[in-house]
Amino acid sequence: MIRKILVANRGEIAVRIIRSCRESGIKSVAIYSQPDRTSMHVRYADEAWPVGPAPSGQSYLNIAKILEIAKESGADAIHPGYGFLSENADFAQQVREAGLIFIGPEADAINTMGDKMRARELMIKAGVPVVPGSGKLTDDENENLKTANEIGFPVMIKASAGGGGKGMRLVEKPEELNSSIRRAKSEALNAFGDDSVYMEKYLKSPHHIEVQILGDEHGNIVHFFERECSVQRRHQKIVEETPSPFISEEVRKKMTDRAVAAAASVNYTGAGTVEFLVDADMNFYFLEMNTRLQVEHPITERTTGIDLVKAQIKIASGEPLPWKQEEIRKSGHAIECRIYAEDPERNFMPGAGTVLHITEPLGLGVRTDGYIYEGYEITVYYDPLISKLIVWAQNREEAVQRMKRALYEYKITGVKNNIQFLERIMNTPDFVEGKYDTHFIAKNEKSLM
Ligand code: ADP
Repeated sequence: MIRKILVANRGEIAVRIIRSCRESGIKSVAIYSQPDRTSMHVRYADEAWPVGPAPSGQSYLNIAKILEIAKESGADAIHPGYGFLSENADFAQQVREAGLIFIGPEADAINTMGDKMRARELMIKAGVPVVPGSGKLTDDENENLKTANEIGFPVMIKASAGGGGKGMRLVEKPEELNSSIRRAKSEALNAFGDDSVYMEKYLKSPHHIEVQILGDEHGNIVHFFERECSVQRRHQKIVEETPSPFISEEVRKKMTDRAVAAAASVNYTGAGTVEFLVDADMNFYFLEMNTRLQVEHPITERTTGIDLVKAQIKIASGEPLPWKQEEIRKSGHAIECRIYAEDPERNFMPGAGTVLHITEPLGLGVRTDGYIYEGYEITVYYDPLISKLIVWAQNREEAVQRMKRALYEYKITGVKNNIQFLERIMNTPDFVEGKYDTHFIAKNEKSLM
């Protein structure tokens, strides 16, 4: 039995997790960096402990300090949220060695999936299609060129340890290949401390579609259908929806089945997401697996009616999944918009400042997961995500209308934000018709700005 959870995170996701703790009768322990002392997660938790100064390295990434607080506060489990330490296998291991429950998968699964090249190899063995590509690239320039020609240009050079949209390089011409590989390697070494890179075929107009899964400690794995995440800027998601307006029921069946196989191949426990790229002919390819809760998890909660955080906690307590696959149903349509403190007019530069006024939308079918309030000071130290707006309706058309209405009601002053930019997305014909791929933002740049 878990009685007290330390939430090793901040912002909207810390608030989100604390909410499920309270509803479950579980005490919560917040940690906060110096500028976060008046943050919402501090107010909502049962206890709050200072973790260090503003820089993440000295606060939300400080493993020793977090473990010390867990011990002193008498917490019996740690929830890492997303970002920060959530995909750090070493952290998961240390939490367990300290005699605490880590609310997430085994360190082995985190390690394997965190290494994109290893994950690809494993998927091939497990019968999950991957994007055509190479193994680890060497400095042999002729060999690299031969590999690229076999795959076919354009190709993507990717860092095996990459993440968060970083560590990717598009190569269109053979003469650019080897200089790009060299640059990708040095970038990867700088950013991730590992210079392993590989090559992948560049899919021309792909969709990013991912499958939510849950696995328990008794060998059961189920999926909760897909999320369409193709509205992206610089490989970062902005709007997500479920169901995907693109794939057919037949492809949905195959894809969710392969997602479960992918998770099974690492004996996955907890909540995870298997990401796929889907080409214009609806062929799907494994992209990567995220071994944590995703930012966009609420749309799945809305259409399937489950609380994914509560499910994570129950799984971590050793309980078996309460549903069989055929008992998991979805209904209606859900959309999420990510509200960022950024200035679309100044190249989406993250903004800081004091929130002078905030009115969040309410009404039928609307949910907001946020953490800012009037008088709250947004700093530049952390992710600029300030809120997620989630709507649900019986069908997609109504959901789009509801999102437009909710965005119209959403008012934040004092800090620059992307609400109007999101409104323009909702009014773009390609989005309204559900006909878009990962190039949607770039393609509609003129009318969106
Ligand atoms: P990260 O781990 O950094 O998020 P991913 O591998 O998940 O990186 O890719 C992020 C996004 O980059 C995808 O959603 C897609 O838009 C684009 N992308 C990645 N690989 C390819 C590819 N082979 N072809 C075309 N687009 C790609």
